[in-house]
Amino acid sequence: MEKQKQIDTLAKLISIKSVNDNESEVADYIESLFAPYQDQGVQIDRVQYAPGRDNLVVTIGSGDQILGFSGHEDVVSAGDESDWQTDPFQATIKDGNLYGRGASDMKSGLAALIISMLEMLEDNSVPGKIRLLCTVGEETGEYGAAQLTKEGYADGLAGLIIAEPGNDMTEIGYTSKGVIDYIVTSVGKQAHSSQPEKGINAIDHLIDFATQVKPLMAQFDQENPILGKLTHVQSVFQGGSQINSVPDKAIIKGNIRTIPEYPNKVVFTALNDLVEKLNQKDGYDLSIRYSFPEEAMPGDKNAPLIKLMEKVHGEIFKDRPVKAIGQSGASDGSEFLHGKGDFAIAEIGPGNNTQHQTDEFVNVETFYKSIEFYKQVAKKFFAK
Ligand SMILES: [Zn+2]
Repeated sequence: MEKQKQIDTLAKLISIKSVNDNESEVADYIESLFAPYQDQGVQIDRVQYAPGRDNLVVTIGSGDQILGFSGHEDVVSAGDESDWQTDPFQATIKDGNLYGRGASDMKSGLAALIISMLEMLEDNSVPGKIRLLCTVGEETGEYGAAQLTKEGYADGLAGLIIAEPGNDMTEIGYTSKGVIDYIVTSVGKQAHSSQPEKGINAIDHLIDFATQVKPLMAQFDQENPILGKLTHVQSVFQGGSQINSVPDKAIIKGNIRTIPEYPNKVVFTALNDLVEKLNQKDGYDLSIRYSFPEEAMPGDKNAPLIKLMEKVHGEIFKDRPVKAIGQSGASDGSEFLHGKGDFAIAEIGPGNNTQHQTDEFVNVETFYKSIEFYKQVAKKFFAK
């Protein structure tokens, strides 16, 4: 594919406002790019999450092994658009960089995967079965990836490459921390503060939780050699509304970053048990819920897929070294790893560290080279 057409493909993706919604328009466009190759056995599945929010799965080639490619269709909000030097939803090239929301995270990565597949179809060189998993809602909870995994689209993969920003194609993420966000609500009974015995103080009860959960989480003190320790931050505390009233409601929110040594269910059990223990006390009415928890992603930097990618990287990026790293943030990989079978997941894409920022960009040369990189990785993956 000509370079201009590669840029046009990325620009078109950026022009679609898929801010935590409207991913179907992205899916429509991707589907239209593969439609001309239907006679080559391209299989397209749309998996609706909600109206206007379609995941898309495109499978090309044949064979027993499946190499997975993945990218998310959504982007985060552009924030105040007047803070941008350029229109965030119109790709603009300046000094060798292409600017726009999603330029880095991760429409450039998604475009590169798509283009690499189209080029292989174009010259009849698809080396094996490749499955592209395009997801909704990665930025707000990875529920698209969760849905695709549940419906079996990640089953039987032999390896999965997610084109999330890789610090300008210099980092391959092979393991990452998980996330647990918890919200504990304490319910009491309102009364005038001059007669506190008539009320139940929701804040007092929540403080008990807050002080006891700290040492409880600190007990998870094993250290992962790559990712470090589990961390726990109490990040929001709200309660009460008037100075002369006994508060009848209080809320605490906490953020835990987990490591593979402690599966999420172990942490859930500890938290649930604490809530249950406190509720044994007179007048305590605490409840806990979790929002979009993600499992830590275990990984091995010596996995054949990672080694192969390092080798191909050396051939294409020559003077630019690459590092296999652990990541502190979760991605769709945390969901896909629940697919049936044992496969390595690698995250690397042309994006850089401008993700989620004003004036997000991707380096155009890195974008071009990443297309070649994915093609060569696929070729060598099936040749091994
Ligand atoms: Zn991303």
